[in-house]
Amino acid sequence: MKCPTCDHPEDRVIDSRPLDSASVIRRRRLCLHCGKRYTTYERVEATPLMVVKSDNRREPFNRGKVREGLLRAFQKRPVTPDAVEKLVSEIEYELQDFALEVPSSEIGERILKKLYALDPVAYVRFASVYKKFSDLEDFLRELARLKKAHQKRAAKIIAA
Ligand SMILES: [Zn+2]
Repeated sequence: MKCPTCDHPEDRVIDSRPLDSASVIRRRRLCLHCGKRYTTYERVEATPLMVVKSDNRREPFNRGKVREGLLRAFQKRPVTPDAVEKLVSEIEYELQDFALEVPSSEIGERILKKLYALDPVAYVRFASVYKKFSDLEDFLRELARLKKAHQKRAAKIIAA
């Protein structure tokens, strides 16, 4: 396994554990060159994680698609490509909880949650595509809800 920090090919496995239904093995590895630790996931090739879409069609999970959606949401926002990559990895990591299939709505919700915490503009952009607001009214309602939630949070912070 190539170290993500220094590209060194030799490592030592320091921990292995099955996730969920044991069709995925998570391994902690120690780079023998730079000493950094990193994680790899081993999945049975015959069972790639399938995304179940709303019309029940299935397609293999595609990391690039998640990245594309995020990049669109973050267009002209002060967010570095590294931060986007980190988000993609976090989402991919969370999806390891699902062994065989994951509903696409689950992926969407996880992305929304992260965007919500990170950047309200990106959140609204992603939500407007993801939730496919049928009309302006829906969109404005969502904005109002968001504003209220933020005010509540701000009030809590002030009160604390
Ligand atoms: Zn290394």
